[in-house]
Amino acid sequence: MKSRWSERDAKAMTRHLATQDVSRDLSLRIYSTRLLGREAQLVLHGGGNTSVKTTAKDLFGKPVDVLCVKGSGWDMSEIEPAGLPAVRLDPILQLRHLNILSDEDLVNVQRLNLLNANSPNPSVETLLHAFLPHQFVDHTHANAVLSITNQPDSPALAREVWGERMGLVPYIMPGFALAKAAADVFDQDPTVEGLILLNHGIFTFGSTARESYERMITAVTVAEARLARRRKRVFARARLPRSIIPVTEVAPIVRGACALSEVDGRHLRLIAKFRTSPEILRYVNGKDLARYSQVGVITPDHTIRTKNTPLLLPPPVAGQVDRFAAAVNEAVDRFVARYHAYFAHNNARSTDSKQELDPMPRVVLVPGVGLFGLGPSSGAATVAADIAEATVLAITNAEAIGRYVCVSEADLFDIEYWSLEQAKLGRGEEAPLARHVVVVTGGGSGIGAATATAFAAQGAEVALLDINRQAVSAIAATIGGGALAIECDVTDQTSVRNAFDTVCEAFGGIDIVVSNAGAVWQGRVGDVDDTMLRQSFELNFFAHQQVAQTSVSIMKTQGTGGVLLFNTSKQAINPGRDFGPYGLPKTATLALMRQYALDHGGDGIRANAVNADRIRTGLMNDGMIAARATARGVGEQKYMSGNLLGREVTTEDVAQAFVHLALARKTTAAVVTVDGGNIAAALR
Ligand code: ZN
Repeated sequence: MKSRWSERDAKAMTRHLATQDVSRDLSLRIYSTRLLGREAQLVLHGGGNTSVKTTAKDLFGKPVDVLCVKGSGWDMSEIEPAGLPAVRLDPILQLRHLNILSDEDLVNVQRLNLLNANSPNPSVETLLHAFLPHQFVDHTHANAVLSITNQPDSPALAREVWGERMGLVPYIMPGFALAKAAADVFDQDPTVEGLILLNHGIFTFGSTARESYERMITAVTVAEARLARRRKRVFARARLPRSIIPVTEVAPIVRGACALSEVDGRHLRLIAKFRTSPEILRYVNGKDLARYSQVGVITPDHTIRTKNTPLLLPPPVAGQVDRFAAAVNEAVDRFVARYHAYFAHNNARSTDSKQELDPMPRVVLVPGVGLFGLGPSSGAATVAADIAEATVLAITNAEAIGRYVCVSEADLFDIEYWSLEQAKLGRGEEAPLARHVVVVTGGGSGIGAATATAFAAQGAEVALLDINRQAVSAIAATIGGGALAIECDVTDQTSVRNAFDTVCEAFGGIDIVVSNAGAVWQGRVGDVDDTMLRQSFELNFFAHQQVAQTSVSIMKTQGTGGVLLFNTSKQAINPGRDFGPYGLPKTATLALMRQYALDHGGDGIRANAVNADRIRTGLMNDGMIAARATARGVGEQKYMSGNLLGREVTTEDVAQAFVHLALARKTTAAVVTVDGGNIAAALR
């Protein structure tokens, strides 16, 4: 691993932050924290922490010795001054004289000594930073270090690798006891440049930010060098079928099986992120996968994101989808039963009563295919997938030089159910459509764009399909949060299939589809050109059927129901003169919606439609509005608000109707009208 320290960048950071009144110490602390945070081999997603001992001024202008230490919830790669809250150092140092200190008391005393009461909670490893005398202290969970410390003979191996330069601290759960033990190890030999925390990670320290940072890089480089030497061949290949079910079919099977069915018939779904690479395949295709993959996490911190062990599936043999799906369900059932047993067994020895977490796996390994990271959101699934990938590499290296081991199940339980770790995950109510994947066709503009935005606001993961790649990318970027933009021609079967495959790879499957793409063709029905009419039917009817059919096949594979929503039109209920080419296929689409509701209600799939009218969009642009207003002899404003409520109807109003239909759990075969009120177009 190379040092990325640049004096120029460090100075630039100091100069830049000086304008915000940030001290040089803290600026350099921020600079090297980001350097460490950006190295995926060192820390992932909020892991690791750093600190600097410096002085700050209190309200009276009096200097106070403080420890600025990473706050819980901050990511090292993006740390800002606010992410390193200042804690008064002296009272914290006094704690070392105590024999025991509960986690609650620890959090309390740390908060009481914050200079700014609005700061986030200082890291759970704050005391360890405080008890070391150096000005700068860095802590990571470097993969290379973990491959060496997670070995049966790790103390001897660690000595071989780092000699006397690093102190060795046995595994102890983070908190007060670990901080004291680490400080004791340091006191035995204050010449060390850092501490190796067995089965956990590494600390380095120094009198400058650069010294501490470079000691980290050096220690990790030494570990990497050892991992490159005297390697044995790992992971003899299992006998795998010649042909494998593609990941796009595997994903909905896995996602469906890992959705928890609740008593009220709802499904607590997860989002699934797929990963594969030559390294992952070598790992999941190994003959002994059942041994090395089930040992446990590489550092205890990961257990709250990935659970202790991944779910292992059999290889998906091509042509045997049903058999594979049955095997996945059985494997998930076994996993859940084992998790309940693990909780019950370990909870029996805890003094307080703990609430069992959802028992579903967070990482799934599929021989011949790759791995999935699972989580309640796309972000959480990405974290699980990233950690799983790092785990594959760390265990591969550990096995190449010895045998991978991990701390005991009891130790991992203590971390998974530790109140301070649980706090990192954040609580609170989930948005109503969190855990749902929504596909919106015609998402690049108008009603589609507004609908995708509205679903995202309800917590859904959204995929926007549109024939205009640029437009749909722009909307997805505005929505942010991992919204997916896919170029798709809904009249083309292959294009639709490919788009849904992309969604399945990105999120694991689909739950709600808003079939919205459409375009207007006009003409008097007696004179209409047959080619034009068929063209309109292609987009305004057959494309809806194509999208719905593809969606239903994925929804049935998942087995957790689903929602089909169609954008029909006023034309489907109250035809307008000379609008036959548009209204006829829309009328057929309304019937299509009812047919889906009828034929697939038994699969838990609901189908509903929105009938909107007079909405300012690409379909009904300003020129068209002006022309129609003139034709009726009214002003544009009057024309647009010519309804019972006397108010213009917007794309957002239509979007809300789609959201409401998605949430109406007992409503199917319904049409919701969004037109401000028009008795002639009212349904009877
Ligand atoms: Zn740690």
